[in-house]
Amino acid sequence: MGTVACDPKEVARCLLTTSAPWELLGWQPAAAQVEQFEQLQQLLRHWNSRVNLTRLVEGDDYWISQIFDSLWPLQAWRDSRAPLQVIDVGTGGGFPGLAIAIALPQAQLTLVDSVGRKLQAVEAMASDLGLQSRVQLRCERAEKTGRDPDCRGHFDLAVARAVAAAPVVAEYLVPLLNTTGKALLYRGQWQQEDSRQLQRAAALLNARMEEPQAMTLPAERGQRHVITLTPSAPCPRFYPRAIGVPGKQPLV
Ligand code: SAM
Repeated sequence: MGTVACDPKEVARCLLTTSAPWELLGWQPAAAQVEQFEQLQQLLRHWNSRVNLTRLVEGDDYWISQIFDSLWPLQAWRDSRAPLQVIDVGTGGGFPGLAIAIALPQAQLTLVDSVGRKLQAVEAMASDLGLQSRVQLRCERAEKTGRDPDCRGHFDLAVARAVAAAPVVAEYLVPLLNTTGKALLYRGQWQQEDSRQLQRAAALLNARMEEPQAMTLPAERGQRHVITLTPSAPCPRFYPRAIGVPGKQPLV
């Protein structure tokens, strides 16, 4: 996209008129969806002054590093109308979960975070965006979510961005997947050694790692990777381990 003016209204206008980032995504949001993204930006400004949610609120920080970055790994689900159960673990200020809820009208979202004040803000934002019927909040540790019968083995898609090291995130996400589900690990830099480690962790969870996908974000926002894990058999029942253990004693 090259350089885009940093005034947020100008950025929104550029995105609408040039459509370059949407073209790179291969997706053109409806006008109502663009309005929801704009409204989400305003809500983030409002809530960020009360709760420390994110520093990525203005200009390209918002449109590229939040919205584009949340949506680029979802190309396979974009054109589907089939109902989709999605869980975002460690949603923080609502990413990628709220962006997915806006982009995929067929999706039901469960957003998990252990920090109550963040989730209260995310709940208020979801409600103001008119998404309350499709967005459910769970204030708890992911290790607990993965052991709850309402969530374990339930989801078509489990996502996490910037939550923990990849083997830790794998232990959070894989137990949540149904038999055809996919876990998407949003990562920044990714090396072969990361793949080797994650493959070993995935094998313990009875999951398989797909080839990493790379994306260079527009506006010089850096390189990102998404790593997909798919279950090959039911996840052993002792995963996820007790609260704190996946982080303190990672699988690999
Ligand atoms: N996913 C968001 C994003 O990309 O902007 C937030 C990232 S923030 C750096 C990490 C979030 O993960 C924090 O809000 C933290 O509370 C949450 N988190 C980390 N470990 C967690 C766990 N085991 N269970 C629930 N939430 C967790």
